[in-house]
Amino acid sequence: MSFGRVEFLDLARQYRAVRADVDAAASRVLARGWYVLGEECAAFEREFAASCGAAHAVGVNSGTDALTLALRACGVEPGDVVLTAAFTAAPTVCAIVAAGAVPRLVDVDPVTLCLDPQALRRELETGVGGRAKAVVPVHLYGHPAPMGPILRLAREHGLKVVEDAAQGHGALYEGKPVGTLGDAGCFSFYPTKNLGACGDAGAVVTADPEIAARVASLRNYGEESKYRNRIRGVNSRLDEIQAAILRAKLPYLDGWVAARRSLARFYDEELAAAGLTTPHEAANARHCYHLYVLQRPDRERFRERLLARGVATAVHYPLPIHLQEAYRDLGREPGGFPVAERAAREVVSLPLYPELTDAEARFVAAAVREEAGDGDR
Ligand SMILES: *Cc1c(COP(=O)(O)O)cnc(C)c1O
Repeated sequence: MSFGRVEFLDLARQYRAVRADVDAAASRVLARGWYVLGEECAAFEREFAASCGAAHAVGVNSGTDALTLALRACGVEPGDVVLTAAFTAAPTVCAIVAAGAVPRLVDVDPVTLCLDPQALRRELETGVGGRAKAVVPVHLYGHPAPMGPILRLAREHGLKVVEDAAQGHGALYEGKPVGTLGDAGCFSFYPTKNLGACGDAGAVVTADPEIAARVASLRNYGEESKYRNRIRGVNSRLDEIQAAILRAKLPYLDGWVAARRSLARFYDEELAAAGLTTPHEAANARHCYHLYVLQRPDRERFRERLLARGVATAVHYPLPIHLQEAYRDLGREPGGFPVAERAAREVVSLPLYPELTDAEARFVAAAVREEAGDGDR
């Protein structure tokens, strides 16, 4: 085959595919002259809530803010402990800190790399105990965290559950959309996510009208009604242009997730035939393949060899949270979270997005098979 190179991601392809819808949405807002907290945001909130079967959605400025404001709306206060996975995107932890809380890390499951309920139980029984107020499971890469056991533990210990569904649009746990299983679910519409804006955007979904009302107030200076502040808020609104663009793209989301899943099936078959271990999909879960991630002990060499063949890859993420400079004070040394540490050394993401062509996918699969076929773990 004759590709110079398969890029890891090319967002302009999606824009070209939906350009008429996106341009019309943005122009409509520009011409209307109402740019913040108007009818587009309200309509997107209704449409996004309906698309994931939630009673309420509240648009905010980012996935990070969605997490921070959801935690605060669930009653997390400065000094409270919030548990989350040691292996996640840094914003999960940024958001906990921004809520004034103290992050407490828990190791992940070696197969799904999501929060390990056994490790969570140990932490709750021997570690933080009563000081913990909430837990933030992360649906990493688009594979649902094991919500059944996590929700049971949370109930036993009186914890709120705020889901980090930033990578989870279209993922199901026991048939239910992720984000709708806990007290609140937090989505990011960062441009690379399964549903992406043309800038920053996020949303909190919840079944609880009080949590929804608190997030809506917090995002707008803490106003309860105009110029009446009952709580101390921030400015974290979803602007009208982004909301209109998200409304234009939302009808495509199911098809995009289906395309991701079909590419993942193709990679699974091609790579499994060559003896590689492919990403796990639990029997009670539907993975939405925000990322397609292999684990390779020889990762750096593997990546270099793929690149030499013209296949770009990425690493999500090269350091677990407790080994990040910013979070050295979270009280763990190297060796503290062995599964997270090994994951950070071994994970490698292959190009997978809805507009990747079949020919490109075949090219990627062939390159991976040839570079890794016999050398799998
Ligand atoms: C992208 C992401 C976030 C943050 O979302 P932003 O919109 O970039 O603030 C949080 N958690 C996870 C797991 C993410 O992938």
